[in-house]
Amino acid sequence: MTYAVKEAFLTLQGEGVQAGSRAVFLRFAGCNLWSGREADRAAAVCNFCDTDFVGTGGVGGGKFTDAEELASHVAGLWGGGSERRLVVVTGGEPMLQLDVALVDALHSRGFRIAAESNGTLPATPGIDWLCISPKGGSEVVQRQGDELKLVWPQPGIDPLALEAWDFVNFLVQPMDCADRQSAIDAAIKLAMERPKWRLSLQAHKIVGLP
Ligand code: SF4
Repeated sequence: MTYAVKEAFLTLQGEGVQAGSRAVFLRFAGCNLWSGREADRAAAVCNFCDTDFVGTGGVGGGKFTDAEELASHVAGLWGGGSERRLVVVTGGEPMLQLDVALVDALHSRGFRIAAESNGTLPATPGIDWLCISPKGGSEVVQRQGDELKLVWPQPGIDPLALEAWDFVNFLVQPMDCADRQSAIDAAIKLAMERPKWRLSLQAHKIVGLP
């Protein structure tokens, strides 16, 4: 299989339970809930995306002809040392491309694999840390994992209904939008009223990391 990668780079994970951890970010091109073109945003199922996932021209991006080639690229970005190797597989929607061959190739190079998905496709077996971020108006089929990350507020989502899903951690993250303070207030309100939810902030944006 050929993999289309928008970008790949070494950074610190900025969100969620593993925030602050050194990680290679592997961002696949393409998503099934938005084309990535601004002209399509208003009509898309997901229309608050803050990520450019179109094409393969980003830093460390490109087309990779097989899993071994891509896994070696990721390992090269990590550099020396085998301790606590972590790759965050994201997108776009990573489950469109992440397959068992790539999971195996990354594991064979000593990586733990974290993945961040919208949950509309079943997660690929073998992922070590699965984060699902549901989007209002989509049908989430993957209702089990390590981390449920709710970008809030969002029309079409009832947080109380999500509490029945089988996740270890429930995180509420203010939407990065024009009215940021209202989103922060809404996220704080949810975490205060429903203790199952913890506030998650996008630390990479605060400290200026990609
Ligand atoms: S599902 Fe994720 S990657 Fe796709 S458009 Fe929405 S926020 Fe962006």
